[in-house]
Amino acid sequence: MFDNLSDKLDKALHVLKGHGQITEINVAETTKEVRRALLDADVNFKIAKEFTNRVKEKALGQNVLTTLQPGQLMVKIVKDELTQLMGGESEGINLSGNPSVILMTGLQGSGKTTFSGKLANFLKTKKSKKPLLVACDVYRPAAIDQLHVVGDQIGVPVYSDRENNDPVAIAQAGIAKAKAEGYNVVIIDTAGRLAVDEKMMAEISDIHKGIQPQETLFVVDSMTGQDAVNTAKAFNDILNFDGVILTKLDGDTRGGAAISIKSVVDKPIKFIGTGEKMEAIDVFYPSRMADRILG
Ligand code: GDP
Repeated sequence: MFDNLSDKLDKALHVLKGHGQITEINVAETTKEVRRALLDADVNFKIAKEFTNRVKEKALGQNVLTTLQPGQLMVKIVKDELTQLMGGESEGINLSGNPSVILMTGLQGSGKTTFSGKLANFLKTKKSKKPLLVACDVYRPAAIDQLHVVGDQIGVPVYSDRENNDPVAIAQAGIAKAKAEGYNVVIIDTAGRLAVDEKMMAEISDIHKGIQPQETLFVVDSMTGQDAVNTAKAFNDILNFDGVILTKLDGDTRGGAAISIKSVVDKPIKFIGTGEKMEAIDVFYPSRMADRILG
């Protein structure tokens, strides 16, 4: 994961390893390389610039107060800043409802249906919940089939209604079924278009208003780099969602989305998807991710 970024940051921070002390010159040289590594990883220009300014300030400020070697001090500062940038403390999902309703949103192909299955499986096996999946894509019968396949795989029932073309009504009927039959989590998979468009945004907004979910999650493909950040912004403007799911982190993503998304939408990344299998889901911990990036 993020091998290229890790290598580049390692090289950038290596500059200070041979030095006995931090000086303005070697800090400037190091932070310039850190900035270049972030930009190469597809981190937004403004975020990368602010990041390196903070690192520079901290490095020069803490220099006299620490017993760490310059190289170690810089690694620590960059790691702390990366953790902050990706969200600080990790945040769970709200399961206080009865049932708790979780609305999945995002573009087509982002990994919504796969992640709906992964989350249902995670909640069933790790949190002893009784989930119900609901298929609300009224445009693509194949999407309904796909959710049924996923549900069968993990042993979680799927509510769908192929005769109905009103996604709000389907979602409400799914929630009613959960209440009547004792399911305590409802995961609603919705239709996604290939790009942000008005019709899609109006539909997802109607579903959101019509069911008032405890959690609205935005699913995004991390391989799409800065586009991931722009799409997140568009969805957040309409839905004020609760958290982000970054999928396909197992691919050769450069990492820019993981690093930038929190500071652009100010919403936490809650889970990551790391493969096509139902078990390929991890809770997102910013500090662990920063450790991973800095080796
Ligand atoms: P949806 O259109 O948003 O519902 O997206 P899908 O769930 O159908 O996923 C689109 C494609 O991405 C499928 O081929 C999935 O198997 C694949 N996919 C989803 N999540 C991941 C992931 O975390 N890693 C990898 N490698 N592939 C994924």
